[in-house]
Amino acid sequence: MKNLGFTLPGLANFYMHGQWVALGGGLPPAGFNGRALARILCKKHGKRFAAAE
Ligand SMILES: Cc1cc2nc3c(=O)[nH]c(=O)nc-3n(C[C@H](O)[C@H](O)[C@H](O)COP(=O)(O)OP(=O)(O)OC[C@H]3O[C@@H](n4cnc5c(N)ncnc54)[C@H](O)[C@@H]3O)c2cc1C
Repeated sequence: MKNLGFTLPGLANFYMHGQWVALGGGLPPAGFNGRALARILCKKHGKRFAAAE
């Protein structure tokens, strides 16, 4: 089992995150999933990813 992708083929600049595309349910997977997407978007736009607790 693995997460669904963040994007949809043929739909540019669309990103979806949260429990509906993450493995498992509840808030923790939704948060981890959003963090992973933020990291991907930072990389795509040449920005340094930094997260604070
Ligand atoms: C009663 C209840 C108790 C819960 N208790 C816990 C708990 O104690 N601990 C825990 O970890 N988790 C709990 N959960 C689960 C937790 O609420 C979810 O895991 C979390 O809300 C998922 O967040 P999300 O942002 O991924 O999705 P969602 O909260 O479902 O957010 C998705 C959003 O997208 C919107 N949307 C949908 N379709 C469209 C569209 N076409 N266009 C625009 N917007 C759209 C929806 O209106 C919604 O606001 C509970 C859930 C329920 C129902």
